[in-house]
Amino acid sequence: MEFAVESGLKTMGSGEGIRRNQALICAPLMADTVDQMVDLMHKAKSKGADIVEIRLDHLKIFNPRSDIEIMIKVCPLPTLFTYRPIWEGGQYAGDEKSRFEALQLAMELGADHIDIELKAAHEFNNFLHGNKPGKCKVIISSHNYASTPPIEDLGNLVARIQAAGADIIKFATTALDITDVARVFQITVHSQVPIIAMVMGERGLMSRILCPKFGGYLTFGSLEAGQVSAPGQPTIEELVNLYNFRLLEPDTKVFGIIGNPVSHSKSPKLYNEAFKSVGFNGVYLHLLVDDVPKFFRTYSSMDFTGFSVTIPHKEAALACCDEVDPVAKSIGAVNCVVRRPDGKLFGCNTDYVGAISSIEDGLLGLQNGSTGTGSPLARKLFVVIGAGGAGKALAYGAKEKGARVLIANRTYDRARELADLVGGQALSLAELDNFRPEKGMILANTTSIGMHPKVNETPISKEALANYMLVFDAVYTPKITRLLREAAESGAQIVTGVDMFIGQAYEQYERFTGLPAPKEQFKKIMEN
Ligand code: NAP
Repeated sequence: MEFAVESGLKTMGSGEGIRRNQALICAPLMADTVDQMVDLMHKAKSKGADIVEIRLDHLKIFNPRSDIEIMIKVCPLPTLFTYRPIWEGGQYAGDEKSRFEALQLAMELGADHIDIELKAAHEFNNFLHGNKPGKCKVIISSHNYASTPPIEDLGNLVARIQAAGADIIKFATTALDITDVARVFQITVHSQVPIIAMVMGERGLMSRILCPKFGGYLTFGSLEAGQVSAPGQPTIEELVNLYNFRLLEPDTKVFGIIGNPVSHSKSPKLYNEAFKSVGFNGVYLHLLVDDVPKFFRTYSSMDFTGFSVTIPHKEAALACCDEVDPVAKSIGAVNCVVRRPDGKLFGCNTDYVGAISSIEDGLLGLQNGSTGTGSPLARKLFVVIGAGGAGKALAYGAKEKGARVLIANRTYDRARELADLVGGQALSLAELDNFRPEKGMILANTTSIGMHPKVNETPISKEALANYMLVFDAVYTPKITRLLREAAESGAQIVTGVDMFIGQAYEQYERFTGLPAPKEQFKKIMEN
């Protein structure tokens, strides 16, 4: 199925404190006591929520008349009262009459919204006898904790919710795959009635962030990480400050990092801050993808404009591209995919550019900037540890610059294979400590050895480092790995994985936006 809500590019102002959409951020409040609930209301306001959802079913002691009155009176934000029964995923185990009475009371006492489940809506309507206080909006909701049904079923569900008298439609489904979200966007964007449509789980995150783009009434944002009322909820802080939720509009372009796992990626922070600072109308998301071809087939409109690609999808993404840059083709992996104005996907590999240019800069630093002609890598012996995606990129990049390449890998056969491809030598990793043919070599670790949490590991002994003039490590958590620390102590110039990360990000940013990358800002963000 193709999802096709399209729009053009547009620039906007700096966005500081600006709101470009009507979508609300609702903080679900879950507390044992009314006092705690009141504390949370104030916290929600200070964090930037627009409205609070008071989950009555979480209160351990609850006296409806006095408690609801107090909560409405003191709440600094508009309210939504929800009294979710166990049979719909909540905590309330009592009878329906008491539940309906509490919700009716909330309506009479001035609640701005109440939520009633579709399964109980008919009975609740009969209970009210048509006496609905005018101010209160009734949300009729449905929750599916197992899957996201086909589009026809979702359409029927929405029609039933509307027929039950909803002022606002709400449905939440579960994402088994990120492409499930496209069906929910299709329903949201065509709804005639205000609608809240969420897809639960990490694979559904996009549905929560892009709510303003597709015309959703509200999204839920938790007060703290992990304190969620449904799986996959971001925090208010993330919505506002990481994803620039207030700035999203129907024509906002969507970018993101495709990977699995992907939630640890710092790329959204980097790109979204940069987009905001230059007024670029885009948003960059974490995209937890299982099936890369299905992802590209589903999100095929011009709105889904550019993607970074990380482990384990770099090879699969290459196969989905209509055109691939020759170097990326040789490497056999893309880490950047851009949708061209004609809709075609173009793939390239900026890992190679980022790493090699950082290493060249490091060498230029050693040579006080003088290179003569050509790359400072020309004719140098360039030792790559690792033969995976990053290893291939570094080996090809170094070869292109005229270096003599040697691959050292734990699995010798893979080293041999890569060495044959780039026209270089191969060693097993175990042989590397005693490999000292000349001074002034360059070493590039492209394995995950030394990466957090195994920060005490290193791929080569300190003694062997004396023969290298420059040591690079692709690992960027921590920034200074044991390898780099020991290399610096041995007198080598060091280049970090953060330098590589920033370098590849500059290149991607320029390809995504057509604008020069804010280099100083990228460095500052990464330093923090
Ligand atoms: P990959 O394709 O899975 O390759 C992993 C390589 O590391 C293989 O050569 C593997 O050897 C070797 N290896 C893994 N664990 C090892 C161990 N315990 N001992 C010895 N060798 C080991 O991964 P990749 O995409 O190339 O990524 C590798 C590293 O580069 C990761 O840490 C990643 O975070 C980093 N990276 C950084 C950036 C950046 O911007 N800084 C960009 C891309 C990647 P075998 O062949 O023997 O299995």
